[in-house]
Amino acid sequence: EKRKDCPLDKDELGTSTWGFLHSMASYYPEKPTTSQAKDMDKFFTLFGEFYPCEPCAIDFREDIKAHPPKTKTRDELAKWLCERHNTVNKKLGKPVFDCSKVHERWRDGWPDGSCD
Ligand code: FAD
Repeated sequence: EKRKDCPLDKDELGTSTWGFLHSMASYYPEKPTTSQAKDMDKFFTLFGEFYPCEPCAIDFREDIKAHPPKTKTRDELAKWLCERHNTVNKKLGKPVFDCSKVHERWRDGWPDGSCD
């Protein structure tokens, strides 16, 4: 049996990273200051530079060149990030996620109380 303190493989790293990124977007200020918006934009540039999966990072850099971060409001950022994740989902043949539900998935929990 594999021990529990091994380096993350590509999928483990991906799942943990998406969890962090979507949570960050769902808790981003509703109305960020100009400086916060600029910093969030920089965050994704740096993220794309250092994400420790080279083929993932190369494609992500291309994707955000075509679709730059939308950092003016929380909802715009969460939707933009959801769309970036869906681009990866499509590339990998995974189901596309309904971006209208992104705050339920990553912040509020489902309306039926199943996360309470
Ligand atoms: P994940 O895709 O990790 O998703 C975790 C959970 O997020 C899902 O269970 C679902 O509840 C939720 N979710 C799914 N889609 C969305 C969405 N659009 N918005 C919000 N929530 C959603 N792997 C590769 O093999 N090749 C790559 O090029 C590649 N590029 C990547 C680039 C980045 C920036 C990141 C962070 C990861 C990348 N990965 C890549 C990893 C890949 O995206 C998955 O994380 C990995 O395949 C594990 O998939 P999973 O089925 O566990 O679900």
